[in-house]
Parts: sequence; C-alpha cells; structure tokens
Amino acid sequence: MRVLGLETTCDETAAAVVSLSDDGRGHIRSDEILSQIAEHAAYGGVVPEIAARAHVEVIDRLVERAMDNAGLALSELDGIAAAAGPGLIGGVIVGLTTAKALALVTGKPLIAVNHLEAHALTARLTDGIAFPYLLLLASGGHTQLVAVRGVGDYVRLGATIDDAIGEAFDKVAKLLGLPYPGGPEVEREALKGDPERFALPRPLLGRPAPDFSLSGLKTALRIEAERIAPLSERDVSDLCAGFQAAVVDTVVDRTRVALRAFRETAGHPTALVAAGGVAANQTLRRALERLARESGLRLVAPPLRLCGDNGAMIAWAGIERLRLGLVDDLSAPARARWPLEETGPRP
Ligand code: ATP
Ligand code: FE
Ligand code: MG
Repeated sequence: MRVLGLETTCDETAAAVVSLSDDGRGHIRSDEILSQIAEHAAYGGVVPEIAARAHVEVIDRLVERAMDNAGLALSELDGIAAAAGPGLIGGVIVGLTTAKALALVTGKPLIAVNHLEAHALTARLTDGIAFPYLLLLASGGHTQLVAVRGVGDYVRLGATIDDAIGEAFDKVAKLLGLPYPGGPEVEREALKGDPERFALPRPLLGRPAPDFSLSGLKTALRIEAERIAPLSERDVSDLCAGFQAAVVDTVVDRTRVALRAFRETAGHPTALVAAGGVAANQTLRRALERLARESGLRLVAPPLRLCGDNGAMIAWAGIERLRLGLVDDLSAPARARWPLEETGPRP
C-alpha cells in the first residue's frame, strides 16, 4: 500500500510518499518540505494570506518531486491524503483541493486527514508501537495529553486553558527580540543560560487534572524582563533558561498526572509519546525520558524532522485510515477547527 500525503495547514508546504510493507511497518519513500519561514519572518509570525498564496505557488512542483523521489507514477498509488484541518483555512483548501484533483484524475481514494491525528500517529510510523499509548501533543497551536486507543479513538485527558506551549515559546522569543520561529531560538539561548537566576512560576503544578496554563508564566517573564531592561545577552539567555525550565517542570508534572488518569481509564500504555514541534526540544525530551523510565515506560519521540509539520505524517495517517477502509468522498470539507476527539472513524 502506498499513499501520497499533502500538508498545507500552516507555514510548511509538504508532500511525501509512505508505503506499508507486509509486516505492517511504514516506510518513507520520499519526504519533500518547503518552509515559508523567510516569507513570514518580517512579520514575526505567520500571515495567513501570504501562507495560502505560497502554498499555491509550490504545491504542484512539490508533488512532482515527491513522486519522482519515490520513483513512482501517480497510477501506482493506493490513496491520496491531505490534511483537511485544523489550520489556516486558505492553506488547508490548497492542499485538500490538490488532493481532490489528484484523486479525481487517478480514480484513487481520497483520505481527508486531521493534522493532529497525523502528529498523534507518527510514533507508529517511526517506532511501530501498538495502541494504547499516552500522547503529549505540544505544537504551535495545540497542547494536549491524549489517550490514543486506536485510529480515530482519542480521549483527551487534559489540555491548555490558554496558550499552546509552542505559542508561548514563540511569544517569549518575540518579547526578547529573538527571531521567529521562537522555539529553537529560545532553546539555543537557554543552553547558555542559568535556569535558576529568575524565579518563574510553575502554573497548575500539582493540580489533579492534567491541564496546562502558560499565560501567567509568560507574563511573569515579561515583568522580569521589564524590571531589568535594557537586557544584556546574558539576561536574555538566563530568561530563556528560566522559561524553558519552568515549562519542562510543568510538562513533566502534568504528564505524570495524565499517566495516572490513563491507567484508571485506558489500562496500561505501551509508551509515552511526545509529538508536535515542541517535541523537538532536547531538554524536554530528556526530562520526559526520565519520567517514562521512572514509570516503566519507553519514551517515543519522532526524529526532529518529523516533529514539526511534514508530509510523511499525513501520508502515514492516510495509510492507517485507508487500511481500515476509512476513506472520504470529494465533498470532504476543509476545516479551520477540528478537535482530535471528533476524528472518529466515519462510515
Ligand atoms: P499545530 O500542529 O498545532 O497546528 P503548528 O503546525 O504550527 O501547530 P508545529 O509545526 O507542529 O506546530 O510546531 C511548531 C511549534 O513548535 C512552534 O511554536 C515552534 O516554536 C515550536 N518549536 C519548534 N522547535 C522547538 C524547540 N526546539 N523548542 C521549543 N519549541 C519548539
Ligand atoms: Fe503541526
Ligand atoms: Mg508549523
């Protein structure tokens, strides 16, 4: 089984081909990605109109490249998948419409994939793990702890009540004058800094429900930064280190609580899985590894290139759905909002 996957929900245009071998494992046959970072950098964030136009300009070429590098003709595919949301609607329409056109001309089934489901299932592509597992999904738009019980079977245990973690990283970076996207910049600065110089809060620590809150932490950091302004290079590094340490402590605590909730409702998880762009953070990965070990679990986190948005995860989610017979027709809508729990198997 071979599926082409298209991703256009945010500021990355991506196309990839993934195949399924007889042993049930996925193989990335090609994985093309074009980031629009340079086009948005001047604005300090993603501009939806610019994003949609940029997707239109490159998507055809990217599909061609993905097929060439996989060494396959469109007729050799078994399905065509695209992220149908959630995301910036102009971009989502570009990818989904392209997939519909390809499905129509080739006669292959269309799979309208939920972008969050694709992040959630990536660990099965990279590590072949079985259901159920506990997923920490931390990206630019989402922060959730989810019991992943099967394809289309997701139980949300906790989520952020304000900012997503990636969003908080991006806002802190902006506040400190670091370039966009902020996550990797803050991480780089934090490596040089002293995490203990600033006493920043650990919001919701110890609370019984595994929810997150990031906005108070972000405000506390802003107040510290204003108090000591103008900021030296050293100050910036120390603020980044303090912020990252507070986030990591919070995530570990919240994930520990979610593991308890998981065991009460979904049984024993096969693994702790970290996904989404923030899962690229090395300090966070190490802390989650310790937590997993201490809980008798394995931490599964995708390789860096599969943490952020990519086409391979969409193609893989397409395979996961296609092999269960879950395909969509050409009227499948593009969705700006599409909660993971509403991604149930459709008849
Ligand atoms: P969503 O998946 O919720 O729709 P998105 O697609 O924008 O949002 P991703 O591309 O999965 O999210 O992740 C991007 C986010 O990850 C950005 O907010 C970015 O700052 C953050 N990020 C990337 N690398 C790191 C890092 N090393 N440390 C912390 N955050 C990071
Ligand atoms: Fe994403
Ligand atoms: Mg992104």
